Amino acid sequence: MSRHVLAKLTTAIVMLAVLIIGGQELYAHRHYEEPVVLGPGVTRVERLSDYFEPLRGTMNDSVVYVLEGEEEGGKAFIFGGSHPGEVAGTLAAIVLVENAVVRQGTLYIVPHMNRSGSTGTQPSGGYPLYYHIDTAFGSRKFRMGDRVTHPLDQWPDPDVYIHYPSGQSLSYVEIRNSNRCWPGRPNGTLTEQTNYAAMELIRKHDVNIAVDFHEAELMYPVTNCIVAPSKSASIATMAAINLSIDFDIHTEPSPPGYRGLSHREIGDHSDAYPFLIEVPEPFLDQPTGPKTESLLLEGKDEILMRAGDKGLLFVEFDESGKPIELRVGRHLSTTMSLLEEWNNFSPDLQISIEAPDYYDLMDNGVGAFLRDPDTADPSMVVFD
Ligand SMILES: [Zn+2]
Repeated sequence: MSRHVLAKLTTAIVMLAVLIIGGQELYAHRHYEEPVVLGPGVTRVERLSDYFEPLRGTMNDSVVYVLEGEEEGGKAFIFGGSHPGEVAGTLAAIVLVENAVVRQGTLYIVPHMNRSGSTGTQPSGGYPLYYHIDTAFGSRKFRMGDRVTHPLDQWPDPDVYIHYPSGQSLSYVEIRNSNRCWPGRPNGTLTEQTNYAAMELIRKHDVNIAVDFHEAELMYPVTNCIVAPSKSASIATMAAINLSIDFDIHTEPSPPGYRGLSHREIGDHSDAYPFLIEVPEPFLDQPTGPKTESLLLEGKDEILMRAGDKGLLFVEFDESGKPIELRVGRHLSTTMSLLEEWNNFSPDLQISIEAPDYYDLMDNGVGAFLRDPDTADPSMVVFD
C-alpha cells in the first residue's frame, strides 16, 4: 500500500470515527423525549394530528394539553416553542400544564409548537444540547432547540420563500420559521402544515384568544412587550398598563404589511384575538461569551453588560442578569393579565384560571413548579 493510499485511508477512518461519535450525541438529542406530568387541570391530551391527519407520526405531531373548567366559557390557545431556542416559552407552557387549574373556560396548550426545531440545535452555534432545571427531587432535563424546523424534516430551502397566501417574498430560511408560516396550508411544507393544524384547532373550537410565547435579544427593540394587531390592541394595552407595576413592559403594533407572523395571520384567518409576548433572553444576543447552559438559564453576561454601558441595549441589564424564573414568570403573569382583560372585554366568554405568577416564580424558581415524573402515576406522564 502506497503512502498516499495509507494517508487517505487513515483520514477516512478518522473522519468516520468523528461522524459516528459526534452523530450518536445528536441522534440521542433528536430522539430524547421530555417527560411532562399532567397537572390537576388537564382533562384531555390530544395531538395536532387530531386536527390535521397528515401530521400523524411526523416530528411535528405536537402534544396539545387541554384544560377544561367545570363551567363553560371562553377558549384560549397558548403555545411555546414557535422558536425552540426561546426556552422560557416552552417552560412557561409546561408550568401551566403541570400547575394551572381552570375554573371557567378552556385552555389548549402546546409547549412545542415547532417540535421539529427542538430536536436539533443551531448548526455551528456551539449551543448546549440540553438544559436542566433544578428541583427538590433532582433535575428535569429538556431539549435545547434551534430557531427553525430541523433540516432533516424539511429540506431543501428555496432561494426565496414566497409566503402563502399573501405572495410576499421573504428570506429563504424563513420557510422553516414557524413564525413566518402562518396561517399555513394543508398541501404545504411541514412547517406550513403544522400551523394549518393549529389554525384548524382554533377554528374548530372557536378559540377566542391565542397567546404565542417568545424570547428576544436585548439588542433588538421588540422585547419586554406584547405584540398585537389592531383588533387585540386595547386588551394588550390594558394588560401592559396593569403589568407595568410589576415589570417594564409595553405594546408593539403588528405591522399589517409583514406577513406570516402569528400576531398577524391568526387574527386575520380566524375570529381569535392574537397576542405575542417577548421577554429578554441574553443567550440569543450575538456579542456574548460562550453559549453555555448557565448563560441560557442565568442570563448573565459581561460582554452584553458592556454593550449596555454603551447604550446598545433596549432593556435594563445588570449583574442580576435575566434568569429563567424571571422570563417564565413574565410570560405567566402577562398571560393572566391578558385573560383578565379578555374577561372585562367579553363577559359572556370568561376564562378564569389559577396559576403561578411572576412573584411565585421569582421567589421559588421554575423547579418549584415542575412535578417529579419518576414518582407520578405513569398514566399521568406524557413524553413530549
Ligand atoms: Zn421568537
